Amino acid sequence: MTALAEYAAELCQVTLSPEQEAAFARYADELIAWNERINLTAITDPASVTIRHFLDSLTLAPVLDLAAGQRVIDVGSGAGFPGLPLQIICPQLDMTLLEATGKKVTFLQHMIDTLKLPNARAVKGRAEEIGQLRAHRAVYDVAVARAVARLPILLEYLLPLVKVGGLCIAMKGKTAHDEAESSAHALSVLGGRLSRIEAFQLPDVEETHYLVLVEKVAPTPALYPRRPGLPSQQPL
Ligand code: SAM
Repeated sequence: MTALAEYAAELCQVTLSPEQEAAFARYADELIAWNERINLTAITDPASVTIRHFLDSLTLAPVLDLAAGQRVIDVGSGAGFPGLPLQIICPQLDMTLLEATGKKVTFLQHMIDTLKLPNARAVKGRAEEIGQLRAHRAVYDVAVARAVARLPILLEYLLPLVKVGGLCIAMKGKTAHDEAESSAHALSVLGGRLSRIEAFQLPDVEETHYLVLVEKVAPTPALYPRRPGLPSQQPL
């Protein structure tokens, strides 16, 4: 059994099949190879890719209803985190990987094709734009994001995409509680309610990682998300 399989079972209650272990190995190889040509990640040694990208992404598994074929969107997916690892362990999830940078979208599509993930798609665009489109607005059960923006800004990206009753999950570092505190106004304007904050300790990683869970309890007013750039220039 690989280190990833052992840690995934222990930390995330996820049992990897031999095919899934092979898919992660292929993903690591492709990520490291493509990273020589386009800037996808600062984390390039295989052991760190396993822990800081793959296992970190899988910490979402225990909080998602993985069997139910939920519609999930990963906003600012970059090289696919956390969306692609979740899709590998649960191919029945309907997964949209949203990314603003074209070269990263090309990599995401390459990985979707290489790993033959029929229910995943890479979409090029900004959250502020697609959040106003009928095809994406209020249609997702879950919106996730890692390392994209501070929570008051991120909520303006995520909450418009999620159905009432759905969930937003922000993967955060040590500022998680402070960011949650400074999000009270954004939550009330956008129709969100802080549900809970869960802590995770990854093996051999000093800092604690947090999942900030926000429920959508009311429709987001049509004004939001505001035009591209405005949420980050003038956060709620
Ligand atoms: N989530 C990945 C991870 O944790 O490895 C990538 C993190 S990277 C620091 C942030 C990514 O979010 C970048 O690839 C950037 O292009 C994308 N991004 C930032 N703002 C965005 C927006 N408003 N809409 C869509 N993508 C965005």
